[in-house]
Amino acid sequence: MASTLEHTKLKFKLNTGDEIPAVGLGTWQSAPGEVRNAVKVALQKGYRHIDTALAYGNEKEVGEGIRDSGVPRSEIWITTKLDNPWHKRVEEGITSSLQSLGVDYVDLYLMHWPSSTDPNDLKKHLPDWNFVKTWAEMQKLPASGRVRNIGVSNFGIRNLEILLNDPSCKIVPAVNQIELHPNNPSPKLLEYCKQKGIHATAYSCLGSTDSPLYKDEKIIKLAESKGKTVQQVLLMWGLQRGTSVIPKSVTASRIEKNYELDGWELTADEIKALDSLTGRFKVCGDAWLPIKVFFGDDE
Ligand code: NDP
Repeated sequence: MASTLEHTKLKFKLNTGDEIPAVGLGTWQSAPGEVRNAVKVALQKGYRHIDTALAYGNEKEVGEGIRDSGVPRSEIWITTKLDNPWHKRVEEGITSSLQSLGVDYVDLYLMHWPSSTDPNDLKKHLPDWNFVKTWAEMQKLPASGRVRNIGVSNFGIRNLEILLNDPSCKIVPAVNQIELHPNNPSPKLLEYCKQKGIHATAYSCLGSTDSPLYKDEKIIKLAESKGKTVQQVLLMWGLQRGTSVIPKSVTASRIEKNYELDGWELTADEIKALDSLTGRFKVCGDAWLPIKVFFGDDE
């Protein structure tokens, strides 16, 4: 943790040597018509990390927001993701994302889910393909210069073991982007990633749309006692665990408030209080996928 408590300047070093800005803007469910301005507001406030995905259908507007901001491309970390029905078409997937975003490269390209879905029938898994083969294709990307780092998302320990133990796996994912908030803290998975040198980015770090965490009395009291918002406390909890956080908002005032994280932190006791909340929920399950990808809390 930076001793100056300049959390907005904080970056986490990846296993490639690159550094990912600790605080980014999430854009899932940020509709066209809203997301362009959200990205512009965020970058003008100081954010230097934007998280999007082909599946969000908003890469074009995200790119427009980036250009509107006037912040040079070289100062911005852009993450996007390969969609499940594109696992056999990695090259096409990245080409499509770069074109939509209007950029020459992305800083991080993630396999969105460990599910190789049949593009002709989204209820079916491709019979002759799996995420190990997808990763073999993704490993070719950094050499092209169009992708600086590759990583995965929604990988639990069980699937990471399968991937890392396969002889075709030559590059350890730089990042695993997973759901992390006090009601889904996944300590075993986080520790596993740390041991393997995989940085974890926390998604749904505020608990997502209509977050139950916003109504949690213990978090509300803690936030009040610190003169901070509930959202700021949740983000600080994520940062102090060593994860990058990507809060989503399309509301200018919230985007700005969520970035006011400098000059303070949570004490060990406050972190303990958040760690010991007993509620549990998961925003993103796997029931909508053709295969199961989550096997219990941490696996
Ligand atoms: P978050 O946990 O970031 O929560 C977003 C919700 O909180 C929105 O409803 C937003 O409202 C609201 N909100 C944000 N800030 C405040 C505030 N200060 N006060 C009150 N309400 C606030 O949700 P997400 O699930 O979107 O997760 C964050 C990002 O993680 C995604 O946008 C996406 O980029 C990534 N993600 C990745 C996934 C993956 O599979 N890899 C899955 C899910 C998310 P409003 O916008 O209306 O202001």
